[in-house]
Amino acid sequence: MQYDLVVVGGGPAGMAAALRAQTEGVARILLVERDETLGGILRQCVHSGFGLVYFGEELTGPEYAERFIQQISHASPIDVLLSTSVVQLERDGYLFLSGEKCGLVLVKAKAVILAAGCRERPIGTIAVAGTRPSGIFTAGMAQKMMNLGGYTLGKKFLILGSGDIGMIMARQLKLFHREVLAVIEKENTCGGLERNRVQCLEQYQIPLKLGCTVTEIHGQHRITGVTVKNLHNAQENFVACDTLIVSIGLIPERELADMLAPAGGLPDWLFLCGNACYVHDAVDDVTLEAEATGRLAAQFILHGTICQPLALNTARLESGASSSLCCLGCPKACALIKTDQGFTGAACGRKDPVLLH
Ligand SMILES: Cc1cc2nc3c(=O)[nH]c(=O)nc-3n(C[C@H](O)[C@H](O)[C@H](O)COP(=O)(O)OP(=O)(O)OC[C@H]3O[C@@H](n4cnc5c(N)ncnc54)[C@H](O)[C@@H]3O)c2cc1C
Repeated sequence: MQYDLVVVGGGPAGMAAALRAQTEGVARILLVERDETLGGILRQCVHSGFGLVYFGEELTGPEYAERFIQQISHASPIDVLLSTSVVQLERDGYLFLSGEKCGLVLVKAKAVILAAGCRERPIGTIAVAGTRPSGIFTAGMAQKMMNLGGYTLGKKFLILGSGDIGMIMARQLKLFHREVLAVIEKENTCGGLERNRVQCLEQYQIPLKLGCTVTEIHGQHRITGVTVKNLHNAQENFVACDTLIVSIGLIPERELADMLAPAGGLPDWLFLCGNACYVHDAVDDVTLEAEATGRLAAQFILHGTICQPLALNTARLESGASSSLCCLGCPKACALIKTDQGFTGAACGRKDPVLLH
């Protein structure tokens, strides 16, 4: 099979990038998604708060995703392969796909957009002693099991990590009449947005324990509790719980791109967007950047080059959001610094910074 563009991942980033590339004139587009439906992480985010910037209204995650799924299903030139994973990327633009309906397939693409999202850091990535009984979930997995699978997970919860997903889960558990003992955070400030701290913790009287961490897990078959250590005075306390929700960070899913890196440099036909590029707070930013990436890929496919500069959202910069600016010209996603002369910091030296905000 031959395509002009293959998009890996059918979350908000992949869908927006594919649609934009199509609008720009790319004819043969394949969108590959390993789940059985499009939508990515949004399918499990049943709370509202999505789309305020992009649509000017407050939507739930599934509602936001549905608007793009509808467009994709009406966009005839976009082929969609569901329940299919891209398992390997080759230097010459070949991709190996593996799916329950298609089996193992080799596809050739002029350009590839990697929009594979991110994965969660599990408990094993931090130094915690003790056993590994059941009842320990990452926050995103807990969210998926509750909202898509209808599982109850447990009765007495402790949340490790005060990122947005951890706080959103703490609130949801309260709404489901579960006991939420506390959110434990090793830093001295909350890890997520202030809005979420107030709306998810303060308004539901869920304690936020700053400067604390979990140092030991207790229990054999099922978790019976954890040791919580105060990092300021080294005091340790046993806290009884039957479920631990771990929300200690997200890692961009770039394994397919990393497969190419050892051979030296990354090819210019490979583009990155969404959480695979860097972890975003809001899906609206994901969509806007992915559209710009779709446009970039289209320029590359149709003209063999990328025309610069791209639209730069100065309002976002002026609002002080520059800390999250990074070059989207290649998978390295170098952090950029604003200077009087423009932007510097594309440390990979591959091309001038590509600014897509
Ligand atoms: C748990 C959670 C809660 C969030 N809550 C909010 C919120 O309240 N408000 C807000 O604005 N933002 C929220 N966000 C952020 C926002 O939803 C994400 O930034 C956005 O979904 C990222 O889009 P994406 O397309 O990059 O990744 P994803 O949505 O993760 O989509 C990536 C897709 O790629 C697929 N994929 C991965 N690897 C392969 C492969 N090899 N082959 C084929 N397919 C593959 C995955 O199955 C997935 O469908 C939340 C994020 C998370 C993780």
